[in-house]
Amino acid sequence: NLSKRLETVASYIPKDAILADIGSDHAYLPCYSILQGVAKSAIAGEITEGPFLSAKSQVMKCELSDVISVRQGDGLSVIEDSEVIDCITIAGMGGGLIKKILDEGKGKLTHVKRLILQPNIHAIYIRQWLLENGWELIDEEIIEEDHKIYEILVAEKGEPMQPYQTVSLQTGLLLGPHLIKKKSDIFSGKWTQECRHWKTILEQLEAAGHTYENNEKFRELENQIKLVEEVL
Ligand code: SAM
Repeated sequence: NLSKRLETVASYIPKDAILADIGSDHAYLPCYSILQGVAKSAIAGEITEGPFLSAKSQVMKCELSDVISVRQGDGLSVIEDSEVIDCITIAGMGGGLIKKILDEGKGKLTHVKRLILQPNIHAIYIRQWLLENGWELIDEEIIEEDHKIYEILVAEKGEPMQPYQTVSLQTGLLLGPHLIKKKSDIFSGKWTQECRHWKTILEQLEAAGHTYENNEKFRELENQIKLVEEVL
């Protein structure tokens, strides 16, 4: 059984996609999406030996070696220049790392129609990268599993500013323009908690003699709280 997190990622894979799952670990996602009849074929990319071997044995166990190619390598470098991949999934890493993988692999994105990205933290880095690189965020989801909150970002080539028409750019990049619109309980809960956390830090800064006037971190936190509270 696939986790709810990966199931949500998989639900955005287009029918008959030729998929590349980067940082695939056990290759659960490509195996699942092929067994479900969604993806047509896949590459499972892994940088680390252990997970790479797990991916290989999982693909063999599922008897999918003819449709899933397991490759060891860094990020999108596992994709050959001649290969036409139309969907890329990158899940279960920090937003900074996902952004780095996309940025270093820009040349491999020519034929890609859809990116499905699931950062564990710092989704803002990905939203910024998408905006700067011609990708339009077409949907987002926020889910909770085992007391952890995950965001799933779906992007296609298009009009990068489109989702930010109705929210301020700063707020949209931090919270997610689609997530703001949907405003689910999980979303509100996450950001209420974040605000509470930032307020505690503010109190500590204040107790140490810092103020809005003399401390940049103070200003940053206070502005951030204001942005978020306007949405909640
Ligand atoms: N994608 C799976 C999931 O969501 O359950 C596995 C997530 S696991 C926490 C992250 C995996 O990404 C690890 O197996 C790690 O070795 C791999 N990884 C980290 N950096 C990578 C890179 N630059 N290229 C390919 N794989 C990478």
